[in-house]
Amino acid sequence: MENVLLKEGSRRGIKILSEIEFACRFLRAPLIAITGTNGKSTTTTLVGEMLKASSAKVFVGGNIGTPLIGFVGGDWEWGVVEVSSFQLEWIEEFRPRISVLLNLTEDHLDRYPNFRAYCQAKQRIFEAQDANDIAILSRDDRLVWEMRKRIRARVVSFGFSEVDDGVFVAAREMIWRDGSREEKFPLSRVKIHGVHNVENMMAAIAAAKSAGVSASLIQKVLEEFPGLEHRLEFVREKDGVRYYNDSKGTNVGAVVKSLASFSDPVILLAGGVDKGGDYGILRQEIRQKVRRLVLFGEAQEIIARALGDLTETVIVENLEAAVGDAFAHARAGEVVLLSPACSSFDMFRNYAERGQVFKSLVQAL
Ligand code: ADP
Repeated sequence: MENVLLKEGSRRGIKILSEIEFACRFLRAPLIAITGTNGKSTTTTLVGEMLKASSAKVFVGGNIGTPLIGFVGGDWEWGVVEVSSFQLEWIEEFRPRISVLLNLTEDHLDRYPNFRAYCQAKQRIFEAQDANDIAILSRDDRLVWEMRKRIRARVVSFGFSEVDDGVFVAAREMIWRDGSREEKFPLSRVKIHGVHNVENMMAAIAAAKSAGVSASLIQKVLEEFPGLEHRLEFVREKDGVRYYNDSKGTNVGAVVKSLASFSDPVILLAGGVDKGGDYGILRQEIRQKVRRLVLFGEAQEIIARALGDLTETVIVENLEAAVGDAFAHARAGEVVLLSPACSSFDMFRNYAERGQVFKSLVQAL
């Protein structure tokens, strides 16, 4: 806790509440709250669109845009809320009707004493829920799945292998099952790609079905969703090389998934401010996919030490030099991917500015 006010407040025993806790005391609409290390904004947007497709009285906010307090006083049927671990640290009664926990991998270790403390903050999303509420959990994430033993809400799960109750994938279709009934959501017409986006879509299906949205409206939203800017965003193809902006890939878990989305060789542009995560979990994907690793920013030496033995690795001065290097070395059929595994604050205002700069550099090639 670095903030002086928070430090002094807790020293004096003054109650500290986060904004979501304060706001939820005045909001009457049931909430769908979404958290996880990665995929929050994508999933929140999808769920928001699905609910809006079936009712006009839906707000989407929290960590993704307008703070919750901005919706107090409105006539809402549902609120869809992205929540961060920081916001969950100071809750008491925050009780979503539907909570979603997507995944847990190392992040923000510059703020938490250890990974366990970060996971404990995330788990608080289920704390005030009871058997009338729903918890949506990934079956494929060991830490998330273990939480089912410790929560009171009814669990609805998603994951890649077939189940009788929950969401899974079979033959290029996402399938929602509720004991006896099932509904199918073909992947063939969706625009977003990558395994991680299949996970996000499965979680969104679980949430929207739990909130009573019809399968046809869910499928319509899945097919129309173009993806969010800076998340595995296709920028352009130049000389047979495809350039992707994944500036929001700000931790190692995100980069693992982004790399897993490609089968062609990748020139990976990474670096920025180190957040204390273990780059070692990237080793397998780097070995298999990354033909050249181009490192920039504060963390370049740390990343080079952790991964530089696996592939051709170069250290460059900044993002402009990184794009120049990738352009000079990329061969037709390859992918140039900015997925930094770090935050951007050494050189940019935020991840969005970093992504914009990357896109302009690529457009100018
Ligand atoms: P968040 O709001 O949690 O940061 P986003 O939807 O903005 O999540 O995606 C951020 C980055 O995380 C993306 O650029 C992508 O690299 C990665 N990502 C998205 N969804 C997932 C997921 N389900 N699992 C792992 N990584 C993901």
